[in-house]
Amino acid sequence: QCPWGAPSTTSISCSLADVMSEQLAKELQLEEENAAFPEVVAAAEGPFITGENIDTSSDLMLAQMLQMEFDREYDAQLRREEKKINGDSKVSISFENYRKVHPYDSDSSEDEVDWQDTRHDPYRADKPTTTPRRGFIGKGKDITTKHDEVVCGRKNTARMENFAPEFQVGDGIGMDLKLSNQVFNALKQHAYSEERRSARLHEKKEHSTAEKAVDPKTRLLLYKMVNSGMLETITGCISTGKESVVFHAYGGNATEDKVIPPECAIKVFKTTLNEFKNRDKYIKDDYRFKDRFSKLNPRKIIRMWAEKEMHNLTRMQNAGIPCPQVVILKKHVLVMSFIGQDQVPAPKLKDVTLSSEDMKKAYYQILNMMQQLYRECNLVHADLSEYNMLWHDGKVWLIDVSQSVEPTHPHGLEFLFRDCRNVSQFFQKGGVAEALNERELFNAVSGLNITADNEVDFQAEIEALEKMNEDHVQNHGKKLSTFSSDGDPPIYDE
Ligand code: ADP
Ligand code: MN
Repeated sequence: QCPWGAPSTTSISCSLADVMSEQLAKELQLEEENAAFPEVVAAAEGPFITGENIDTSSDLMLAQMLQMEFDREYDAQLRREEKKINGDSKVSISFENYRKVHPYDSDSSEDEVDWQDTRHDPYRADKPTTTPRRGFIGKGKDITTKHDEVVCGRKNTARMENFAPEFQVGDGIGMDLKLSNQVFNALKQHAYSEERRSARLHEKKEHSTAEKAVDPKTRLLLYKMVNSGMLETITGCISTGKESVVFHAYGGNATEDKVIPPECAIKVFKTTLNEFKNRDKYIKDDYRFKDRFSKLNPRKIIRMWAEKEMHNLTRMQNAGIPCPQVVILKKHVLVMSFIGQDQVPAPKLKDVTLSSEDMKKAYYQILNMMQQLYRECNLVHADLSEYNMLWHDGKVWLIDVSQSVEPTHPHGLEFLFRDCRNVSQFFQKGGVAEALNERELFNAVSGLNITADNEVDFQAEIEALEKMNEDHVQNHGKKLSTFSSDGDPPIYDE
């Protein structure tokens, strides 16, 4: 038997010229193809694979446009959710890392560079084994059978699951999505670049410690002040206290109604609720805030501290007491003039070494200021000590007056007595022989004439006076205008 099989008897009879004709060869091949893969040929000639990529490219563009639109809507929704969750809260959650469009990222170009080379496709090697072999040359070199595309496309869709976890790929498998290699590669590259971009963004944030002291909303307030030109630059943090953070800034342009000092201090009142529990007694019983207090939520109360400091500073300013000048109040952020120079804050009285002459001068100045504060401003500092007095330009400046109250505050006199104790102890220790003791100082400032010669009795009398005032409020619905009953007290002076 012939190993080549029996020659088939063909009924086609043609000339040699016919056999050699390309025309005929093509026809024969087509006939063969039709017999082997009828549906493939039909598909190949269908409207979708036409050799040119016109439809594909416009689909891609459409998809990109839709994606952009989707991203925008997604981010808008995210912002709404963020806002809803955070409300007015000082402590807020940021969804920034979940955004599709990263607002701060403008230098994306460097990511695109290594994306240009798409010739190498690591996934093209995995040709599905089920693809039937074709023994012929297709119409164009890039023709692929329909079967190829389906398997490949599904595989591509499944591979998207391997993208970074934060990259949302949707349920492509569920909807039997088939991605062409081109689209898949583009998505893969996009996912990869997004991943790197997010990582970079994250890194940036982690390493920026300068603004960590304040929450995003406060930062926004500060940015706005700079953006509006009111401030030139915020240079850094001067002090981080339990209840406030103070920054230094260079003043910006003056507005129609405001001259901005060349250097400013920005006091940001901290918004952790714990710290303010201890302060309740200062503000709760302050009649100026009485009606408002009960109705307010904690965030508003914190704003009231800032407001209180502003009002108190204004009173002091009007009385001519050396103190920071108020520039502007925005929510819980108070901008005032900076006491100091070239970013260096004036030293606290506790940190400065004064000559005995300056020490004596400082003492009389403070005595005078306490009297002015009490009589002209109708205020008791309530946190007066060497920590809240700055030495600048050869004189003492009073700061930190958010907790200051009026003398008729239910504990106003107790606060004044404490202030007096701090002041007299500081100056007595500091070698000022003329310094009055705390009880004498109290009488000198308040104009009261409490005669008790020991601290316990003195304090008892103070509390009795406070109680008398409270009873008066109970009975008459209003406070005594002043504690002083025996004429105008003498103003102490040097
Ligand atoms: P706190 O309630 O945290 O004590 P302060 O008002 O006392 O707040 O400010 C804290 C510190 O910040 C002060 O001790 C002082 O060093 C600095 N500071 C505050 N205001 C000014 C200002 N206007 N100019 C210069 N330094 C200031
Ligand atoms: Mn202070």
